[in-house]
Amino acid sequence: MPDAMVAARASDAARGTPRQVDVAVVGAGFAGLYLLHRLRKAGFTTVALEEAGDVGGTWYWNRYPGARCDIQTIDYSYTFDPELEAAWTWSEKYATQPEILRYLGFVADRYELRRDIRFGTKVTEASWDEATERWQITTDNGAPVSCRHYIMATGCLSAPKPPEIDGVKDFKGEVYFTGRWPHDGVNLAGKRVAVIGTGSSGIQSIPLIAEQAAHLTVFQRTPNFALPAHNGPAPSDRMSLLQGDRAAYREQARQSMAGVPYPQQTAVSWQLSDAERRARFEEAWGKGDLVYILTQLWADQAVDVDGNRLICDLIREKISAVVKDPETAAALMPHDHPFGAKRPCLDTNYYATYNRSNVTLVNLRQEPIKAITAGGITTARRSVDVDVIVFATGFDAMTGAIRAVHPITGRGGKSLSDVWAQGPQTYLGLTVEGFPNFFMITGPGSPSVLSNMAVSIEQHVDWVVDRLAALRDAGFTTIEPTEAAQAGWNRHMADCSTLTLHRLANTWYTGANVPGKVQGVMPYTGGVGPYRSICDEVVSRGMLGFRLTGPNVAAQCNDGEAVRLQPDVRLVLNLLATLNLPPIESMGALGARAFVNEFNKGRPAGRPIGDVVDGTLPGTDGPLPYRVYKPAAPGPHPVVVYFHGGGWVLGDEQSDDPFCRDMVRRTGMMFVSVGYRHAPEHRFPTAAEDGYAATRWIAEHAAELGGKPGPVLVAGWSAGGNIAAVTCQLARDRGGPDIAGQLLVCPVTDCDFDRPSYNDNATGYFLTRSLMDWFWDLYCSPADRIDPRVSPLRGKVAGLPPAFVVTCEFDPLRDEGIAYAEAMAAAGVPVQQLKARGHFHSSFTMVDVVITGAPGRVQMAEALRRFAGLPPEVSLGDEHSHGHTSPGHRIAAAAS
Ligand code: NAP
Repeated sequence: MPDAMVAARASDAARGTPRQVDVAVVGAGFAGLYLLHRLRKAGFTTVALEEAGDVGGTWYWNRYPGARCDIQTIDYSYTFDPELEAAWTWSEKYATQPEILRYLGFVADRYELRRDIRFGTKVTEASWDEATERWQITTDNGAPVSCRHYIMATGCLSAPKPPEIDGVKDFKGEVYFTGRWPHDGVNLAGKRVAVIGTGSSGIQSIPLIAEQAAHLTVFQRTPNFALPAHNGPAPSDRMSLLQGDRAAYREQARQSMAGVPYPQQTAVSWQLSDAERRARFEEAWGKGDLVYILTQLWADQAVDVDGNRLICDLIREKISAVVKDPETAAALMPHDHPFGAKRPCLDTNYYATYNRSNVTLVNLRQEPIKAITAGGITTARRSVDVDVIVFATGFDAMTGAIRAVHPITGRGGKSLSDVWAQGPQTYLGLTVEGFPNFFMITGPGSPSVLSNMAVSIEQHVDWVVDRLAALRDAGFTTIEPTEAAQAGWNRHMADCSTLTLHRLANTWYTGANVPGKVQGVMPYTGGVGPYRSICDEVVSRGMLGFRLTGPNVAAQCNDGEAVRLQPDVRLVLNLLATLNLPPIESMGALGARAFVNEFNKGRPAGRPIGDVVDGTLPGTDGPLPYRVYKPAAPGPHPVVVYFHGGGWVLGDEQSDDPFCRDMVRRTGMMFVSVGYRHAPEHRFPTAAEDGYAATRWIAEHAAELGGKPGPVLVAGWSAGGNIAAVTCQLARDRGGPDIAGQLLVCPVTDCDFDRPSYNDNATGYFLTRSLMDWFWDLYCSPADRIDPRVSPLRGKVAGLPPAFVVTCEFDPLRDEGIAYAEAMAAAGVPVQQLKARGHFHSSFTMVDVVITGAPGRVQMAEALRRFAGLPPEVSLGDEHSHGHTSPGHRIAAAAS
């Protein structure tokens, strides 16, 4: 049929009577197929609109040589039906594209899904009709569709990126895109081939193209980390785990961080010797498993540049061992991003391919492409004549297939493209404010591409279909997230993005691969299991953050934010809740001390510093132990006298060890942690007087301890913050010592519990109101409690050293800390406050557990250096900083 007739037919159909369905789905890949199945089972009428000629989604289009999955296929499968699982056996550890496509065809046949799919049909527009409360969908082929709910199951990597290189149209040879590979295959035998791009698609296809081509020239802009797949049969250890208890295996995957059932590592890199780290790395390298090597080496590998760099070095060593030409090997070694921050690849013979005589690598960092000409590719240094150009240049990821493919118009004529002009805004990565009854499967803001997609797709589909059924049963016809919920989710996304190193690389995760695209980490970095629990919690809290309406029911809106805690604080508190511990105050002082000792044994070891020296100092009634933490750089260093937390009852000079080490590394200053005496054996004012006496002695003996003589600084956390604050008042009133500054972290400053933070955070945040009651009772009789030596807020606050006061949103002590800071400021003391949003009482001392606490410690270190008159640079250590800089800027910082 001539093109004009096809076009006329299509436009007739487009004007025809709309087909009415409950739910329209775009896409018939992994997500679309499962959606159809679930929607049908839930009793919804439905149609899927699919541009391709058959099912498969990304696996329909990506037919380039070497295309395979790189999550083990036993994990990259549907799990919703045990009979389906029993009916299909994968032939390899990593199945090829044709086998995965066969699998999806098998699934479509088994559940008779094709009858509800309109193939060869592209959606051209989708608009929300307020009057009918339905989406109106027009397509380029066939009748429009009117639906109550509109679901995009379009995948995250389905809109290929244009080549962005001048002269492509002038090229007289053959041009192919890996993401749109011809179905009949391509004969490259005897041809001169160019491949542009070395992401997963390039790295999978290059070895096979090299085997066919007369000559292959690879144009590489950024080298990527690639690991050997060691493909073959599914590994017996994984198979026996799966077959041993399939349900448990699948459930563990759903609760895991990446959607593959591996445990979380607890050993940190600095706890392991070189030999131990190498052994772990070699084992991972031998396994050929991306998720394993990305998660199972050491706990800090994905959150800390130092822990990550160890892996980068080991992989670079592997590259140089394989690639014979040193210049080529050097060009193939990534240096510009942490391992895992850019999607690493699984390869088969990738690096060895560069030892072939018919393969040349062109390093575009040294000689950028100037143009594509009729006969080939011209760089700044050479012209390469080729017969074929293969673009393996990637996708407009995550938002491309949703934002760019067709106009989507929501309530009040708002276009999704406009709403997302500054980057994707979603609630849960599933819905968008202003776009009622609109859902995205694995949308931006959900774990999606940072997970095993099969697991994330099933979770999203189940959540959406269960919600639609519940709405229908309750008589609601619309569902839409609120502005507050969406804004809260975006904040939570930003909080999560500080957890990992993804923000430090220019990648398609951040939109950096598409010129002009707004940049920011688009997938949810908080993990698959935590994300699932948040989605479930939204439901159990009455569809938190959603507005539901219907013609015959009262509208419902339980407005609010899904997560107000920092993501890692949420994990810690959830973990503590599952431990079901008895209240600390029920253990007695000795029992509580034993418990804290045991508890502390399970935390990550503090980081290495210059030296740790224990000693005793003469207190007023006998010796007091102390521990000196010294920086690695030669001294003498300014001295910080530190008081540990523990409610005047618990802890000792070693109990805040990770915090002291971290602060020494960041400040370059010396910390002397004091073992003051505890209640109930030594009640008020012992702790205060010990603190003051110790500070005076340390100031007088700074040089002997290896510190810098002169004014000292004081710091403390919790009850230790109380002692630090009291010490400053006593030093002012008793003629010294000279104190240059005070760092008070979540300090106790007053005996009065009648403050909102005591009520709002009375339980559920580890430090409870009842525990504080117990501490006060053990330390101080009611009559003494108004004494400024335990309630410094009631003392004179003028004339104190400059202060940095840290308070946490979810801490009973929050308001008294703020009150103390405000009182000092009102009295003319230079005061800076850090009101830590989403944090709890222990956030800053749980070093390397509450990762989001690191930026706060950077600020504390900056304050201490300022008090000591040192230049402002602090060691960021793990590169967490509180400023927001562009990814490019961060990369420079990480590399320096
Ligand atoms: P990609 O990772 O974005 O890689 C594109 C490559 O092309 C990069 O090396 C990029 O360099 C280069 N490039 C882009 N534009 C260029 C230009 N104008 N000039 C020169 N070089 C240019 O894309 P992909 O390889 O298609 O993979 C995308 C994602 O799809 C993967 O990360 C993976 O998640 C998924 N995928 C999975 C599999 C699998 O499961 N086995 C296979 C293929 C793809 P820069 O890095 O400098 O931008």
